[in-house]
Amino acid sequence: MKPLEQLVRPNIWSLAPYSSARDEYSGKEAHVFLDANENPYNAPYNRYPDPLQRDVKKLLERVKGVPAENIFLGNGSDEAIDLVYRIFCEPGVDNVVSITPTYGMYKVCADINNVEYRTILLDENFQMQAEELLAACDDHTKVIWLCSPNNPTGNSLNRDEILRTIEGFNGIVVVDEAYIDFAQQQSLRQELPTHPNLIILQTMSKAWGSAALRLGMAFASKEIINIYNKVKYPYNVNMLTQQQAMEMLKDPFEVDKTVKILLQERTRLMQAFRELPICEQIFPTDANFFLARVTDAVKIYDYLVDKGIIVRNRTRIQLCNNCLRITIGTRTENNELISALRQY
Ligand SMILES: *Cc1c(COP(=O)(O)O)cnc(C)c1O
Repeated sequence: MKPLEQLVRPNIWSLAPYSSARDEYSGKEAHVFLDANENPYNAPYNRYPDPLQRDVKKLLERVKGVPAENIFLGNGSDEAIDLVYRIFCEPGVDNVVSITPTYGMYKVCADINNVEYRTILLDENFQMQAEELLAACDDHTKVIWLCSPNNPTGNSLNRDEILRTIEGFNGIVVVDEAYIDFAQQQSLRQELPTHPNLIILQTMSKAWGSAALRLGMAFASKEIINIYNKVKYPYNVNMLTQQQAMEMLKDPFEVDKTVKILLQERTRLMQAFRELPICEQIFPTDANFFLARVTDAVKIYDYLVDKGIIVRNRTRIQLCNNCLRITIGTRTENNELISALRQY
């Protein structure tokens, strides 16, 4: 890996961050707070939230086995994705390398930040090879994006190829593990101490059933997390989100239960789907959705919309011709989907 100073944009490296009242004083002993121009009325909403979300991170430390100093929390993973560009990629100069098909936000954020977005097409099993990704890099490649389990394909990427990519690249590798709690494949979290160029993204939006909260996580070296904290909005995670996240994190076994139910439902739904005359192929999945090739994705999508059932039509995505992406719902919802499709 290149020294971090060579990877981070020069203006960000030398940035003096905004120092909020709560940065300068964060002890708990004081009882008169006249430092932040807050209103003394309308408690508890009158106070600014903890800019570093320390109580949430303390719980995450236990749940994820990652020290708090290695955790960044953002307004969804989307903030953590955008900040990668703003931290590492000089607009109009630097580039990133990604796989295709994959999650759309990596490209949207590249476009917003005016950063060249290079892609390597996955093979017919939706797998990638480290060598191919590394061959697409040049001196101005700052970041490689990987997503495992991948969206919209559902499969986990080959772990050895991911590690080969991380070890063979002198820049930053981001591995988006939004769906890792549904996967057979293990998280790369334990690889963090030995791989200083690795950023892992996770989220409360999927297995934790809390998409409305907007809470995303990045796990990385202390040095990278410090830069994240310097660039983010001071109060990027609001108090209600922090409180509700703590409630969820105090009871991680509740999440295990719903994940288990969803995995059972996934097996059942896929079995039923495979028997449908419209089904041509179902792709292996490690997530809470599956990708299926059908006889006519557009017609079937419209038919389902007409019945009030919405799936995701991915037919216009490379390698996903005539494919629908189907999220696992409740047993009742899944039954409704299947019985609608049986009548198609
Ligand atoms: C759903 C999803 C996310 C979650 O994004 P949030 O902003 O945290 O809701 C992240 N990455 C991928 C690949 C996803 O599919």
